[in-house]
Amino acid sequence: MNSELFDVAVLGCGFEGGVLGTILARHGYKVLMVDAGQHPKFALGESTVRHTWRTIKIMAERYDIPEFRDKFSTGEAVHKYVTSSCGIKRNFGFIYHREGEHQRPEEATQLVIPSLGEGYEAHLFRQDIDAFLTNTAAHYGATIRSNMPIEKVDVQPDNVTLTTAKGATFRARYVVDCTGPGSILSRLFGLRDNPPRLRTNTRCVFSHMVDVTPYDDLTLPNGVPRMPERWYSGTCHHIFDGGWLWVIPFDNRKGSTNAACSIGLSLDNERFPKPADKTAEQEWHDFLNRFPSVKEQFKKAKAIREWVSTGRLQNTVTQAVGDRWIMTSGAHGSGFLDAMFSRGLANSTEALNALAARLMSALDDDDLRAERFEYVERLMKAHIARGDELVKGTYISFKAFDLWNAWYRLWAIGVGLGDYKLGAIYQTYLRTRDESVLPDAQEPPLGLFSSNHPGFGELFASAFAEMLKVEQGQQTIKDTCDRIFQLVRNAPFHSPALGLADPATKVVHLSRPSVALRSFVWAMTQAPPDVREMGLAAFRTFLPKFGPAPRLSTETRLRGSSQ
Ligand SMILES: Cc1cc2nc3c(=O)[nH]c(=O)nc-3n(C[C@H](O)[C@H](O)[C@H](O)COP(=O)(O)OP(=O)(O)OC[C@H]3O[C@@H](n4cnc5c(N)ncnc54)[C@H](O)[C@@H]3O)c2cc1C
Repeated sequence: MNSELFDVAVLGCGFEGGVLGTILARHGYKVLMVDAGQHPKFALGESTVRHTWRTIKIMAERYDIPEFRDKFSTGEAVHKYVTSSCGIKRNFGFIYHREGEHQRPEEATQLVIPSLGEGYEAHLFRQDIDAFLTNTAAHYGATIRSNMPIEKVDVQPDNVTLTTAKGATFRARYVVDCTGPGSILSRLFGLRDNPPRLRTNTRCVFSHMVDVTPYDDLTLPNGVPRMPERWYSGTCHHIFDGGWLWVIPFDNRKGSTNAACSIGLSLDNERFPKPADKTAEQEWHDFLNRFPSVKEQFKKAKAIREWVSTGRLQNTVTQAVGDRWIMTSGAHGSGFLDAMFSRGLANSTEALNALAARLMSALDDDDLRAERFEYVERLMKAHIARGDELVKGTYISFKAFDLWNAWYRLWAIGVGLGDYKLGAIYQTYLRTRDESVLPDAQEPPLGLFSSNHPGFGELFASAFAEMLKVEQGQQTIKDTCDRIFQLVRNAPFHSPALGLADPATKVVHLSRPSVALRSFVWAMTQAPPDVREMGLAAFRTFLPKFGPAPRLSTETRLRGSSQ
């Protein structure tokens, strides 16, 4: 028995373990980080969204982590200071395909990522990112133990004992399960729902490849859809009735040293259950044979790691928090719902932001009862509930391009409001250092995007109800599209300049100067007061020429000597 008593044992040195271990060690807590494997190691969760970086920026300030602030808060910073292996994401692209036919160029949509102030999003080569985070935690004093799968976790009234596969033991006052979808605590404590309590039922076939031809450069019988951004300069989603394929290039950033591209096929598990008689690679080739335009993109491509075919991706647990233990988003299930819209890391960072402060204060009070972490559990539950509706609605929308074209506007509005809100929170916090403005000080929890925005919550619920009618055969696709567009038209909290209420608008492009200007005028003159206030507070985020907000002297809670 190792007699050393750690304050916190973090199980798993992936993204979540690395972020949490860094914060806790930076604040002087005695942290053990233990992983079944060792770096470098493959992980999914490669495409970022604004929400992820903005939450990291909030954590950088709140927890005073210079590495998050300077090296790990934008794609550009990561490229410069962490690794040259990541790609750039200038857009969310969606190209609709019909089985057995070449793609129709008019059936595509694109959301252009505004670079204003914060640059573009990133395609994270996770093996480098996760190693960086673990190294940062070690820098601040965390003890790292690799190649030690934890097999037993014994929670006693005054501490927790961990036992590895080889019989080594560790003791800690508190344990955090960051072991991802295999969640060790949910398995050991028998907490998994079987089946999961979710509508979404999807699975995935994935690998990394080289020599993937940019879709933009193909010569296709009907042509290639032309949009403001190249498809290959963002996360490209090939969508079809029953599923979608992600194309996440790492070689699309100037100066990238990584030739790989992440490829993943996500399928409705009820319509396309995992075949018992096919390898993952055979499934991949069968898929290509059904969609000729997609096949063209992969004519020269070669896989550089074994194809993996998963079972159902979704998990739910009966309980995510107990006395002296908690599981984070990846282990809880809210971080691994489905790759659609790249929400996993955003959920993870929101939950970690809420957890770290509560954990440090519970350690200081020596009160590690479940009650202290009830908020974090509620937050993760909200993420999974809203995420389930968003993803379920999306798979229903894949039935027809027109339906997708109507439904994805809900996501676009939600993303816009949520990002606005987080930008406003970040800027207000920078100015005031008032913890009561932070996302986890709010009731009800943020949930997905801006789902605690009353108007958006109602809009989303109404639109989702329309989607369920299509699935149940109670309403035609045409009627559903009409109703959703009517709902969008009636919603007063998105800028008319974006054209979201018009089915003919296929591009969401806030950074086009005319759209940006008209949206600004709308926000100042016609938008509901809450949207106007958020816009004013978030303004600095979009206009870096004003320079960063003044750094106030903060009373940090750093306790250790390793500062
Ligand atoms: C198909 C798919 C695609 C996704 N794509 C995206 C995306 O594009 N963007 C996005 O934001 N999110 C995405 N996500 C979600 C994202 O992958 C997760 O949110 C994120 O990886 C969670 O990180 P983690 O650290 O919790 O888990 P992981 O990265 O899985 O790390 C878990 C760690 O725990 C270790 N471990 C496991 N068992 C044990 C044990 N018994 N003892 C000790 N250590 C153990 C493992 O070795 C590993 O290092 C996707 C999810 C899925 C399912």
